[in-house]
Amino acid sequence: MKAIEQIYIDGAFVTPHGAERFDLFNPATEEKIGEVRLGDAEDARAAIAAAKRAFPAMRRTSPAERIEMLHALRDAVAAKADALTEAMATEYGAPQSFLAFSVPYAAGVFEMAARTVADYAFTRRIGNTDVIMEPVGVAAAITPWNSDIGFICSKLATAIAAGTSIVIKPSEMSAIQTQAVTEALHAAGLPRGVLNIVNGYGHVVGTALTQSPDIAKISFTGSTATGRTILRAAAETFKRVTLELGGKGPQILLDDADLDQAIPHILTSAFRNSGQACIAGTRLLVPAHRYEEVSSRLAAAVSALKASPSSDPTSDIGPMVSAKQWERVQSYIRLGQEEGATLLAGGEGRPEGQDRGWFVRPTVFTGVTNDMRISREEIFGPVLSVIAYHDEAEAIAIANDTDYGLQSYVLGTDGDRMRRVARELEAGRVVLNEAPMDPRAPFGGFKHSGIGREFGAFGLEAFLEPKAILG
Ligand code: NAD
Repeated sequence: MKAIEQIYIDGAFVTPHGAERFDLFNPATEEKIGEVRLGDAEDARAAIAAAKRAFPAMRRTSPAERIEMLHALRDAVAAKADALTEAMATEYGAPQSFLAFSVPYAAGVFEMAARTVADYAFTRRIGNTDVIMEPVGVAAAITPWNSDIGFICSKLATAIAAGTSIVIKPSEMSAIQTQAVTEALHAAGLPRGVLNIVNGYGHVVGTALTQSPDIAKISFTGSTATGRTILRAAAETFKRVTLELGGKGPQILLDDADLDQAIPHILTSAFRNSGQACIAGTRLLVPAHRYEEVSSRLAAAVSALKASPSSDPTSDIGPMVSAKQWERVQSYIRLGQEEGATLLAGGEGRPEGQDRGWFVRPTVFTGVTNDMRISREEIFGPVLSVIAYHDEAEAIAIANDTDYGLQSYVLGTDGDRMRRVARELEAGRVVLNEAPMDPRAPFGGFKHSGIGREFGAFGLEAFLEPKAILG
């Protein structure tokens, strides 16, 4: 049983003022595996004060000094790869493919931020004016449970790149992963107060951060509902906000698509991170004349997917993070049937062979129309809705008929045509044929999927303010 008794403030592990405890679980077994002692508003204030003390010196660091810090952080995370992977497997339970991706990704975000700093013009001359890009002020980050280590690292990397200090409030459900990554980051030897990490509830520690007049910037990843609350609270003190929220990504299968290539891409996009991914492509738009053919190929491919624990190297899909999330996904699988959609694969209950753990059956609905709740609401589990379209214009209209606009997908064989369709989509990112991730391309959403962008120069600028010195 793991007991997480401390938070990280001013360069040290300290006992929080808050005394409330929160249970931690292994989602593959449903067993309680630990407890975390949560911080409270007073702990948030102590962390903000430490970050505020660290800010003036951090603000004056040169790009070269910041690159050095980022390299130290990269190396510190890479050095603890085994411990981080173990923490994630135990507390989150992702399949091997996601575990293998996650820790190199977390180390890689520091490397990418260092490269962005190296290439970025922090001062430039425009007319008779010097424009200086300055750090916006002390930052706060609030992160979700579906990639705890990755989000902590990417938000810290951007703060350091910009020359600011940060207070991070991770999800209370990920405290074992947070502890492992905090220990790794501590070894990088950042100046005191530059990094502070406070476990706690959103409505307690999160609210203290969003209301504090000493926080100038909030970078939030999480649900659209919480993003709205944060945006409202931040307005009081005119905080700069970056919000990375939910999604209901369309995958447009064009009529010239080669199904041998497209079907694996469709499943990867729909069920990535066990479906607990904001970027999941959960609405598949299929030309009506190929609907039967695509459905039968999907049924066979999805039936072959395996939902099992991380310890099984052949697992494709891990458990849902909590009992609550499991119930939520079950309720949507019930709802799809009530709404009149047809179960092509999967369904309610646990997958065969799993008698415990928050595992769900990878599920595909056909006969879905875009007005059904299963195609409008983010389910955050491995549930794919297949919708028929008659021509390209209708496909684009259905794809854009959503409150969300995070990541869309276009599958086909004609590059020019795919690009033409991509330009019509209301989404922060469009992936053509499962192109590989580009870590310096901007990431973020249109519409209710968020505000602002992360990664690369766009992400860096979200932590900077331009100052013009005329003359
Ligand atoms: P959530 O919004 O419930 O919680 C996210 C974080 O916000 C947690 O740390 C939580 O404690 C905190 N929080 C909750 N209420 C708060 C409040 N009132 N004030 C301040 N902070 C508060 O989301 P979740 O369930 O942890 O994560 C799943 C959601 O995150 C999904 O909707 C998913 O789409 C979204 N997500 C988005 C992205 C993206 O980059 N766009 C990435 C991953 C997840």
